Amino acid sequence: MKKTVKDIDVKDKKVLVRADYNVPLDADGNITNDKRITATIPTLEYLLEQNAAIILMAHLGRPKGKVVPSMSLKAVPQRLSELLDKPVQFAESDCIGAKAKKAAADLKGGEILLLENLRFHPEEEGKNANGEKDKAAMDAFAKELASMGDVFVQDAFGTVHRAHASTAGIVKYVKDAAAGFLVEKELKFLGEALDKPVKPFVAILGGAKVSDKINVIENLLTKVDAIIIGGAMAYTFLKSQEVPIGTSLVEDDKLDLADEILKKAKERKVDFLLPIDHIAVDKVDFANKQIPQGAIVQTTIDDVIPEGFMGVDVGPKSIEKFAEVLKNAKTIVWNGPLGIFEIDQFSKGTIEIAKIIAESTENGAISVVGGGDSVSAVKKAGVDKEISHISTGGGASLEFLEGKELPGIAALPNKK
Ligand code: AMP
Repeated sequence: MKKTVKDIDVKDKKVLVRADYNVPLDADGNITNDKRITATIPTLEYLLEQNAAIILMAHLGRPKGKVVPSMSLKAVPQRLSELLDKPVQFAESDCIGAKAKKAAADLKGGEILLLENLRFHPEEEGKNANGEKDKAAMDAFAKELASMGDVFVQDAFGTVHRAHASTAGIVKYVKDAAAGFLVEKELKFLGEALDKPVKPFVAILGGAKVSDKINVIENLLTKVDAIIIGGAMAYTFLKSQEVPIGTSLVEDDKLDLADEILKKAKERKVDFLLPIDHIAVDKVDFANKQIPQGAIVQTTIDDVIPEGFMGVDVGPKSIEKFAEVLKNAKTIVWNGPLGIFEIDQFSKGTIEIAKIIAESTENGAISVVGGGDSVSAVKKAGVDKEISHISTGGGASLEFLEGKELPGIAALPNKK
């Protein structure tokens, strides 16, 4: 178990907090969704109660080691200040420059300072000024950041799968370090789902590619009672069993692998559920996520997709079959849409699954949903409040489900 913020002494200390403020901005630089900012409030409020001086570190976008004004964090302090009902200072232009250091040095208990985008420095991501990998440069940058505070709190779950200066490197240069409440919650839900799931444990995986989720499937096969597969991924599995899939999206170079996974599932007695019917269409405008005029949409009678058609959602019989398994589940993990859910007509499978998961949760199951698309589907279905845990880190939660060590978590000290 990793130390959490309550296990370390933060009273009257200067606390460096890594936060995920990678928020979406409109063309005028206004924040269009502040969910990531609100997610950090519990940790910040606790630190303020302890009269800590808070130095926030974050990144926005991918400036690739250069100062990109449109990727400044300058819109964040105002929103944060409204949420905390307190002024929030901003160290503009440079996160480790003389100005930032002075502001950090002058910061008193109960005050808050946000540093400018860490990724304006290539060292944050382990590179030097020439763009070459350079661990010494990353370490020196981490040390500079650490010099501004006493202890470190990691609350940016969305970046813990990266071995960066502000996620992993910084820990060895501070007096103590711990997970914030947000990271603690992520580790609790994801960790318990994987390490001691209440059975039956059912995983649902969707999305575009098998290749993106192979490691997740392989790791989950050792833990779950059933795996439900939807989305374009399903067609690679169906084709590997010689089921005709028409013009559906498929990864032909992954057919053998799909077949192997199905054999492994059988050996392990894991119920591996593929769609038994589909919504199919003869043409889709993928670029604009639209159905072109004159396109023919049909519901197939079984798992076979007619020639010239592509599968774009799971059909009603599949939803029913998946629902039966999900209704008995006591632990549910979901990542990835079951169809092209961005097109309303093809979003039914994904939305229905979201509702069924919510129902199972009301009946006592623990549900964990991760990945941007599944999270928006849960919201679109209006059931986000009913899910036990919605993960804030798409990439990080997938790597967690793969069973990988997350560098930003591994670096934190264990509880005594
Ligand atoms: P991923 O990022 O791998 O989770 O994939 C998400 C994307 O997969 C979404 O943009 C979906 O539109 C897409 N997707 C899901 N099902 C299908 C399908 N049957 N055919 C094509 N794309 C799909």
